[in-house]
Amino acid sequence: MQETWWGRVFVKKQYAIIGLGRFGSSVAKNLSKAGFEVLAIDSNETKVQEISPYVTHALQAESTDEDALRAIGIRNFDVVIVAIGEDIQSSILTTLILKEMGVQSLVVKAANDLHGNVLRKIGADKIVYPERDMGQRVAHSLISSNIIDYIELSDNYSIIETHPAGDMVGRTIRQLDVRAKYKVNVIAQKKGDKLIIPPTVDEPLKEDDILVVLGHNDELQKFELAFTE
Ligand code: ADP
Repeated sequence: MQETWWGRVFVKKQYAIIGLGRFGSSVAKNLSKAGFEVLAIDSNETKVQEISPYVTHALQAESTDEDALRAIGIRNFDVVIVAIGEDIQSSILTTLILKEMGVQSLVVKAANDLHGNVLRKIGADKIVYPERDMGQRVAHSLISSNIIDYIELSDNYSIIETHPAGDMVGRTIRQLDVRAKYKVNVIAQKKGDKLIIPPTVDEPLKEDDILVVLGHNDELQKFELAFTE
């Protein structure tokens, strides 16, 4: 059967999350809130009880125990997320076991680059670095008080969400000549709850508008600084 984009978006996926620390439990709750079936697993009974009201199923199990994982039927889940951060040995062992069991899609949280490299070598499909990513976001929001969010696309390119800085307010995107002068692209604009794509280029910017800007990190920084006193 041919896969369609709407098929991919609307098929109800089943997720299993192993490790219910701050990150794992937040992922579990959010997936559940989005309407997905979520199985939450932790070796700590208290963590299991705490998450229980928010997810489809919650189980106490040791993820380094292959038989336990098999009994749960972990292989049948579309995505398994390993959110064991601090106990790196358990994280690696769990990933290895799940990979050998043939789990379709394996997402693993890495505590640092070295941990991430090992996970990649043993076949994790996606590696996430929540602490590092959050650190970058917070750093960017501190560098400029206008920056609300920051998404790193590669080592050199990012998307930022920013309020118009200083002198930008009252001028239009066309007047600012953003693309030619700063070599960055305003790809969308947010006004309250409304997302406007492409942005309106002939309307004066208001202080509480949000611009979604894509560009090279150096250019993004120049763009921000050019309008900051
Ligand atoms: P965070 O930084 O997101 O809070 P932690 O590393 O502190 O993450 O928490 C990881 C969670 O994973 C803890 O609740 C811990 O009980 C659980 N955990 C650790 N090892 C295992 C394991 N082998 N099997 C199942 N759960 C585990």
